[in-house]
Order: sequence, then C-alpha cells, then structure tokens
Amino acid sequence: HDAAASPAPDSGVQVVVRIRPPCRVDEEEAGEDGRGPEACVRKTAGNLVAIQGHVQGQDFTFDAVADAVSTQEDIFNLVGRPLVENCLSGFNSSIFAYGQTGSGKTYTMWGPLSALSEDSVSSERGLTPRVFEQLFSRIKEEQVKHADKELTYNCVCSFLEIYNEQITDLLEPTQRNLQIREDVRTSCVYVESLTKQYVFTMKDVTQLLLKGLANRRTGATSANADSSRSHCVFTCVIKSESKNPEDGSSSTRSSRINLVDLAGSERQKLTHAIGDRLKEAGNINRSLSQLGNLINILAEISQSGKQRHHVPYRDSKLTFLLQESLGGNAKLAMICAVSPSQSCKNETLSTLRFAQRAK
Ligand code: ADP
Ligand code: MG
Repeated sequence: HDAAASPAPDSGVQVVVRIRPPCRVDEEEAGEDGRGPEACVRKTAGNLVAIQGHVQGQDFTFDAVADAVSTQEDIFNLVGRPLVENCLSGFNSSIFAYGQTGSGKTYTMWGPLSALSEDSVSSERGLTPRVFEQLFSRIKEEQVKHADKELTYNCVCSFLEIYNEQITDLLEPTQRNLQIREDVRTSCVYVESLTKQYVFTMKDVTQLLLKGLANRRTGATSANADSSRSHCVFTCVIKSESKNPEDGSSSTRSSRINLVDLAGSERQKLTHAIGDRLKEAGNINRSLSQLGNLINILAEISQSGKQRHHVPYRDSKLTFLLQESLGGNAKLAMICAVSPSQSCKNETLSTLRFAQRAK
C-alpha cells in the first residue's frame, strides 16, 4: 500500500482528502438506464484531486487523497498510525474530520455503530478504535523494551459535544453547558466536571464510544440537535511514568490525542432561520471558520518558522478547548471528506478549497 509508506509530516498540518464511494442516496440521481451518474470529483494521482468541469492542470494538491477503493485500514495507516507515534513521543496530536453532512466524517472517525458493537473485529471499524488498538499494542512494546525503567502508562478518556457553543458531557449527558476553565498556575485548559474514564482494553474504549455516540444521537440534551450540527470530541490523555534504574528517581510525561468529528460544513442558511435557529446557524458557521482561520495561521507559522503574537484561540469553544493541541509542537491531521455526488458539487468544491487553504 502506498498509503502506509507516507510518513507523517514533521510539522504543520497533514491534509488528506477522502472521497467516499457513491451510495444509495446518490444513485437516486441516476438516469433511467440505471447507470450511476458521473462523479463530480475524482482522484487523478496519489495526491491530486480534480473537480469536474475545472481546467485541466488546475487540480488541487494535498498530502494524500483517498478514494472509493481506499479502506478504513488505509486511512488508519495514513493518519492514525503516525498520530499514535507522535503521541508516544510526547506530542499532543489531533485528527479532525471536516466536510458536509453525508460526506463520510462519522464513518471515518468511528465507523458504523454496528462495526463497533460487534464482538468480532470488523474491517469497517473507523479510525478511533484502530488508534487505540495501536496505542495499546505500542504501549506493551515500549514496556518490554524499557523493562528496566518500570514504565507505566495510564490512559484517561473523555467524550464531549459542542452544540451551539455549549458543551455537553457525552458520557454523562445530564451534565450540560459545562465551562472551560484555565488553570492559573499551569495555564492548562480543561472542562470543569467533565467525566473522565480510564481505559485499559479495547472493550473499555468501544463501550465509551458506543455510550457517547448513543447520547449524541438521542440524548435529552440533543433532542433537537441533529448530530450534523455539533462538534464531537473524543480525548485521551496518556501519562507515562518511568523510573531511572540508577538513582530510583522517576519522570513523567503526558500527551493527548483528540479525535474530532466536526459539525457539517455546509453553510448553515441564515435566511429563513429565526430565534434560536438563527443563533445556532451563526455559531456553527463561526466556529468552523474560526477553526479554519486558526489552522491557516498555524500552517503559516510552521512554514515561516515565525511565531505570531496573537493566535485567536478564544474565539470559539472548539479552538479554546483544543488550544494546547493546536499550537506549538502539536501534530494535526485534517481529513476532508467529500461526496462524489453531482448534487454535492458546490459543497465538495468548497471543502476542497478549505482543505487547500489548510495546507
Ligand atoms: P457524515 O458524518 O459526514 O454526515 P457519514 O459518515 O454518516 O457522513 O456517511 C454518510 C453515509 O455514507 C453513511 O451511510 C456511511 O456509512 C456511508 N459512507 C461514508 N463513507 C463511506 C466509505 N468510505 N465507504 C462506505 N460507506 C461510506
Ligand atoms: Mg456524521
């Protein structure tokens, strides 16, 4: 697989475009002859994408492009595997899925619910379960390799939803409108009273995912909040402690992984919305464009090597919350999901433009 061979970038943002296969909904667009319509977007080379009707030679360039033949495993090899290594080397690491509703963000980040709940391992499971399989297996390897240092790890997870600029705990959905706080001493950002759960096995992880995702879809707090309008953030903090065999002193290290399924990027219509809906639509547009701006700034910083004085983390809950995972030495991957459907062409184009800017 060429996917497995692609190394993680040393700095900056890794941008991958994933074109999902056509699915049943798209086929309804097909003509009477039953033949599927032509895709509006296609991969033209390893890292190039062409959109139908655009001038040849003006393809979009990314770090990698996955299309209908790419598997969940390919995506894991491309972004998940390097992310785990980054994290074990002590870098905060995040993967975002960006794209319009129906483009494959949720499929990419978690996989179908059935693939998570099955007892047997499903090839359709998404990035998150695969990241943890790799994490647990690498932790074991490290412990064997450094047996003299009595290396111990602990992994603590949380799962939250940001809907309309309000944070809900997906592991305890009665906890809504949670506040982001900053520890004055360490200047660490955290969500007050968010549920934290230790994970030791894959079963622990899938249980948390299933619980959180169920709350996302049907929880009381999100009764009228379609999941396409919220950001969903699964975080794991990995702490390790090792002993120096010579003098018995110990040292600790901590890093975090964020797996983020963003709200649908389709422009929320402000025209006919009133009241709460208007406010909500504005909040979604704003938080996604703020994330985009922030990523542009970070890409700029890493390219020029210069620090900027002001990075606007506090402009939205999402960027404020992920502050420590966005700047500095943090590693970022953005998977921009697009649909090949003709009716999605405008949104697909706008996602490609967003993705291009993030590079
Ligand atoms: P989003 O989260 O962006 O709204 P979904 O992940 O729910 O989109 O995907 C929409 C539909 O397309 C789902 O039925 C999903 O299972 C299917 N799908 C998305 N990507 C793929 C893929 N790469 N292979 C097969 N089916 C996919
Ligand atoms: Mg989704």
